[in-house]
Amino acid sequence: MKRVCAACGYPRSKFLFEKDGYSILRCKNCCFEFVDFQPGDGFTSDFYTKDYFVDGHDKCGYADYLQEKPNLMRSNIKRVRFIENYVSGGSILDVGCSAGFFLEALGPRWDPYGCEPSGAMVEFAREKFGERITRAALEEYEPGRTFDVITMWDCLEHTVEPNLFIRKALSLLKDDGFLFLGTPDAGSPAPRVLGRYWYYYVPPSHLQYFDRWNIEIFLERNGFRMRRLVYFAKYVSLAEIVANLGYMFGNQGMKQLSERLLRSSRWNVSIPYMVFDDMVVMARKSTRFND
Ligand SMILES: [Zn+2]
Repeated sequence: MKRVCAACGYPRSKFLFEKDGYSILRCKNCCFEFVDFQPGDGFTSDFYTKDYFVDGHDKCGYADYLQEKPNLMRSNIKRVRFIENYVSGGSILDVGCSAGFFLEALGPRWDPYGCEPSGAMVEFAREKFGERITRAALEEYEPGRTFDVITMWDCLEHTVEPNLFIRKALSLLKDDGFLFLGTPDAGSPAPRVLGRYWYYYVPPSHLQYFDRWNIEIFLERNGFRMRRLVYFAKYVSLAEIVANLGYMFGNQGMKQLSERLLRSSRWNVSIPYMVFDDMVVMARKSTRFND
């Protein structure tokens, strides 16, 4: 098939499988996987409305994002520790900041900003961060300044045009600035074993599936130098796991069980989740690229 690979630029890909009516393709050169999907303008702001974050089963979103906060904060604290191994403070932009939970995990040495397309989440994040949160997809975000650090957690896989997206991030970084991103690893054991049933194959929510090799090609082609790649455990509530299984198998009973779990502080336990399919990357803005 003639679809240009967003990671390496190779013009030929092969059909991998169909998921929920969408074709998943794989680049014949670098194995980058992507959904054969050309959405119209405004897809991002239309798709990531309140119902993605609350009762989002139909979009493989969240059962209740705000109630998931304790688990999300555990992951966010790890992310902050990882970042502070390299840079101890400064201005920071969290792309796709949602309700602002990652920004909340940052200490006082940080000057936090966020952009997020979901109006409902922006409203929530603004209660804490006010005008520092802008309702916009990154491609439309015009802060009129640059940042020391840009973060994007579970965000790159949702983008429609990953090259435009990452170039915009590059333009908003100071020279030698840091990029930290987390995205699923489609080359890890879980998708190899589960195939099309891998829980991250959820088009049209996830459209781009990188692995640890082609993410480096992608970043280097867009002006970054990749310096580190690690895997973190994530923490997820039982309600979110059951909701996701319900989505995967189209099972209404699991959806109802998830709703019951959401109301139960006793049974909705936190589950650490570590199968090495969530990669976290640190990259620097390459000064050579600007020469
Ligand atoms: Zn490729």
